[in-house]
Amino acid sequence: MDITIVIPLFNEAESLPELHAWIKRVMEANGFSYEVIFVNDGSTDRSWSVIEELHEKNTCVKGIKFRRNYGKSPALFCGFEKAEGNVVITMDADLQDSPDEIPELYRMIMEDGYDLVSGYKQKRYDPLSKTIPTKLFNATARKVSGIKNLHDFNCGLKAYRKEVVKNIEVYGEMHRYIPYLAKNAGFCKIGEKVVHHQARKFGSTKFGGMNRFFNGYLDLVSLWFLSKFGVKPMHMFGFLGSLMFILGFLAVAYIGGAKLFDLVRCVPTVLITDSPYFYLALTLMILGTQLFLTGFLGEMIARNSQERNHYNIERII
Ligand code: UDP
Ligand code: MG
Repeated sequence: MDITIVIPLFNEAESLPELHAWIKRVMEANGFSYEVIFVNDGSTDRSWSVIEELHEKNTCVKGIKFRRNYGKSPALFCGFEKAEGNVVITMDADLQDSPDEIPELYRMIMEDGYDLVSGYKQKRYDPLSKTIPTKLFNATARKVSGIKNLHDFNCGLKAYRKEVVKNIEVYGEMHRYIPYLAKNAGFCKIGEKVVHHQARKFGSTKFGGMNRFFNGYLDLVSLWFLSKFGVKPMHMFGFLGSLMFILGFLAVAYIGGAKLFDLVRCVPTVLITDSPYFYLALTLMILGTQLFLTGFLGEMIARNSQERNHYNIERII
């Protein structure tokens, strides 16, 4: 099979028939063998019965139905598990992404040898409250992930080589960082294609509100930490802890030494505990010890985890 299209959806019943007809038109015009996997993420509208109707008319249409709303990442994860096409394409269900982009995305994977091609909505039809924070988000994601050539991490329209989707685990709200997940799994040829973007025709956005930014940044921090120190927490905590402890120790030694020196010379002295530096030094030593122990505990957990030797093996001959 050439192409699998994975479409996560949450209350998008109005868009589905039009989206399906459009995809079918593009696929048939290009002679691709394909499947469309609709992942119904706990919709409370008619979405699932629309999918059932489409499936009856066309065997290329498949569906996964979640019992409740889990989120876009779990929906993608389950779609990826079931995907059979050599190239897997994800797109949103709201008709904001155009199926006309599919043939070129397919070509970039198969001929240009990309592992992942991400859409780039250069001209967006979203409100300013969405586009400005998105710019900030992308700049940070570029910096942290080291994938310098991507402008739009969170674009729903993406194409993957099949191995990529079978080797990454999209959980929580990590769908924003799939290129980073792919990179961590060893798929480095990541490209971008400018795609057309349309205003939402039906329904409303499911990712409004501020908490997506906080969650988004926290996810990025976890990913960064996991990819850098996930299996060697001691390298970070142990280092920081030792550094703080040593600084604290030197400071205490200095304060104590100075006091002794004054005593020997019979100069009037103040109590060590009257000096603010004494408390700073003490705090440094306590924090240092705690960080060190945290690293040590992390190391013991990492050593016992079942995934400690989970390496992505590309091929065995
Ligand atoms: N979506 C989903 N589960 C959710 C939220 C969203 O499957 O909990 C789907 C949604 O139906 C759409 C895609 O994810 O197909 C992108 O959502 P949306 O268009 O609301 O995001 P935006 O384009 O506004 O960023
Ligand atoms: Mg949308």
